[in-house]
Amino acid sequence: MSNLKNKRVITAALLGSWATKDLNPAVPYTPEEIARDAYECWQAGAAIVHIHVRNADGTPSTDFKLYQETVERIRAFKDCDVCINITSSGSVDFSDEERIYPLQQLLPELASYDAGSLNWQNRTVFLNPPAFLEKLGHALQESNIKPEIEIFDTGMIYNTLYYIKTGVLKAPCHFQFVLGCAGGMANTVENLVYLKNLIPDGSTWAGCGISSGHLPIMSATIAMGGHLRVGLEDNVYYSKGLLANSNAQLVERAKQMLEINGLQAATPDEAREIYGLTRKI
Ligand code: ZN
Repeated sequence: MSNLKNKRVITAALLGSWATKDLNPAVPYTPEEIARDAYECWQAGAAIVHIHVRNADGTPSTDFKLYQETVERIRAFKDCDVCINITSSGSVDFSDEERIYPLQQLLPELASYDAGSLNWQNRTVFLNPPAFLEKLGHALQESNIKPEIEIFDTGMIYNTLYYIKTGVLKAPCHFQFVLGCAGGMANTVENLVYLKNLIPDGSTWAGCGISSGHLPIMSATIAMGGHLRVGLEDNVYYSKGLLANSNAQLVERAKQMLEINGLQAATPDEAREIYGLTRKI
């Protein structure tokens, strides 16, 4: 095993379902734009790219062809060995099958696993009912895809512990704490410490804060030994009032933050070793 003590994984969450070009014109929509951002983020130091897909008008999609084209375009870049993480969410209107099918067909190394439902405040309900989570957990195990267990609230950790016990999920797990979502836990260091202390020994974890929590949660995550997630899915600004130029700009800063702290961004192969991923390219 190589020395990974000072290595931290940077994931670039490129677009998500909510960020639009109206908020920041740099948000990618088409497979070509998403793949270009993935490549630039990999060049800037990201080991993993987390992707959603959109229709031409920017609304969320689960169109398998869009996922397929996006993955093929990322893989076509010379030497680009970035790990691909495909969302299992997308939109509240999608069926279980629509959410799982692209994962089973494209076999990314990671897929998001939102371990519970959440009210997006006044917007809608982000539904992840037990039947879906059981189906998704088993499907990911069968396809050897590591779940990126997204945690928006404390109960989601207890759901995860339950699913480990019942065999739906397999330890050691990888947790992604997402703080500051509308209806989720707030962007505070206290919340991050609290969540981190609840996960089982041997787990890996990353932290990210939405919008204004982006930098404080990144700093706290680095100090606490966690891995990083940045990108226009979570935050369209570079600093207060100043839009980010690109996803890669946010990755570059995360890499610099690591280096200032005497750490280094993990390569994709190092990230595979740290997170226990099966290399599929
Ligand atoms: Zn996402």
